[in-house]
Amino acid sequence: MDKNYTSTRNDKVKLSAKDAIKKGFADDGGLFVYPQLNSDISLKSLLSLNYQEIAQIILEKLLPGFSKEEIQTSIFDAYNDSFDTPTITPLVAVDDFYVLELFHGPTSAFKDIGLQILPQLMKKVLKPDNKVMILTATSGDTGKAALEGFKNLDQMGITVFYPYQGVSKVQQLQMETTNGNNTDITAIRGNFDDAQSNVKKIFNDKNFKQSLGNKVNLSSANSINIGRLIPQVVYYFASYVQLVNKHSIKLGQKVNFTVPTGNFGDVLAGFFAKQMGLPVNKFIVASNENNVLTRFFNTGIYDRNLPFHQTVAPSMDIQISSNFERLLYYESNQDTAYVKKLMDQLEQSGRYQVSDKVLTAIRDDFFCAYSTDDEIKSSINSVFKREHYLMDPHTAVGYKAMRDYQKTGDQTPNILLSTASPYKFVHAVSKAILDNPIDDDRLAMQQLQQFSNVAIPQNLIKVFDLPIRHRDVIEKNNMEDYIKSKIEEKFYDKNSSARN
Ligand SMILES: *Cc1c(COP(=O)(O)O)cnc(C)c1O
Repeated sequence: MDKNYTSTRNDKVKLSAKDAIKKGFADDGGLFVYPQLNSDISLKSLLSLNYQEIAQIILEKLLPGFSKEEIQTSIFDAYNDSFDTPTITPLVAVDDFYVLELFHGPTSAFKDIGLQILPQLMKKVLKPDNKVMILTATSGDTGKAALEGFKNLDQMGITVFYPYQGVSKVQQLQMETTNGNNTDITAIRGNFDDAQSNVKKIFNDKNFKQSLGNKVNLSSANSINIGRLIPQVVYYFASYVQLVNKHSIKLGQKVNFTVPTGNFGDVLAGFFAKQMGLPVNKFIVASNENNVLTRFFNTGIYDRNLPFHQTVAPSMDIQISSNFERLLYYESNQDTAYVKKLMDQLEQSGRYQVSDKVLTAIRDDFFCAYSTDDEIKSSINSVFKREHYLMDPHTAVGYKAMRDYQKTGDQTPNILLSTASPYKFVHAVSKAILDNPIDDDRLAMQQLQQFSNVAIPQNLIKVFDLPIRHRDVIEKNNMEDYIKSKIEEKFYDKNSSARN
C-alpha cells in the first residue's frame, strides 16, 4: 500500500493514510501530514456535482489507499438525512458577505462534518481482531459530535474528557444524555488545554500502550486525526461551487474565508483546499480573548504562557492550537527538523519564535484578529438588528475579524464560516439581543425562537427530556486510570487474563 503520509517532526516516517487514521498521532509526538497537496482538480468539473460527489473527488485525492468503494460507502453513511438539509453545508447571503452554515448535522456544530465520516473511515481501517479506543478531549462540541459518530460501532469504544464547568449547559446535557454501549464521558477538573495535553501524553506513553495488549489501539477523534481534518476540505470547495453556480462570482475568481479558530483545524482544512487549487486570497483567522494566534501574527512569537480565559465562545477557549504545527510544516517547505526544533522549544519553555521567512509566508495566506466578549455580543446584536441573521458567539468572533480585515481595503468577496447553531449558546445569544433573557435553558431557547423566528434544531430541544447517563468527574491527573478501566470493561472479559 502506498505510504504517502509522514510526520511533521520526521520525514523519514512513512505510512499509509489508513495507518495514519488508525494511529491518530505520530510516535515522535508529531502529527501526520500528506506532503503532496497540489492537485489537478478541475474546478469547472465540480460545478455540476453535489456535496457527496465533491467529497468523493477530494477524499480520493487526499486519502490514497482507500478504495473508491470504501470512500463512497463512508460518504453515504456520513452525509445523509442525519443532516437537516440536502446541501449539507448551505451558503446564505447576508449583507455584503456569505455565511457558510456548517451546523446542520446531528449535533448542531461544525464538528459533525468531520465526525460523521471519521468513524466510517475507521471501520474500513480495522482488521477483524483489532479494537480501538478513541480518546477525545473536548471544549464542548467535539465531544458530542464524536459520541454520535462512534456510538454502538463494533470494535470501537470512545472516551470523552471535557473541562468541568467549562462548557455550556446544553453542551453538557448533550454529552451526559448520550446512549450507546461503547460511550464514556467524564468531566475533568482542569481546562481544555489540560485535557488535550494529557491525551497527547497518554498517546506518547509507550508503557501505557504496551499494558493495553497488542490488539487494543488508541486513536483520536480530535482534529489531530487527519481522518477528521480532511473531510473538512470538502466544504471549502462546495461553498465556492455554490457561489459560482449562483453567479455571485466568476469561475476562478478569488474569495476570502473567515474562520472562527481554536485548534486551527477548520482553517487548516481551508489552507489544504487552497494548496489543491481553490482560488483563495486570504484566510481570516478569528480568535476570542484566548488570542495567542493574534499575538503570533503580530510578532512571530508563539507564547502559550498566557492566562486562560473563559469566554462566551467556549469552543475556542484554547491556547495551544495543535494544528498550527501542521501549518508550520507546510509554510517551512516541509522542513521537519525545523518543526521539531520549534515544538521542542514549545514543550520546554512554552514559546517559540519562527524565522522571518516563515512568518512572511504565513502572513501571505492569513490575517488574524480577535474579539472580546463585549465585541461578540455587539456583533450578534448589530447583525441581528440590521440583517435579521442570528449568529452564534463563535460565528460572531469571525464576523468582527472579517470586518477588521475589510478595513485593509481588500474588496474580495467574503465567506464567513458559521460553526454552531445559536441555540447551543442560548444565554450568550439571548443576552446580546433580548431585554429580559430567561435563565432556564429550555425556556430561554423557546424565548429566543419566538423573538428571532429561527427554528430550534430538534436534537437540541430533545436533550431536556432524555435521562442523564453520565455523571463522572475526575481529577485531571487520573485520566490514564480512567481510560484503563474503561478499556478493561469494554474489551476484556473480566474473568480472563488473556490479553494477547
Ligand atoms: C471547534 C469549534 C471551533 C474551532 O475550530 P478549530 O478547528 O478547533 O479551529 C469554532 N467554533 C465552534 C462552534 C467549534 O465547535
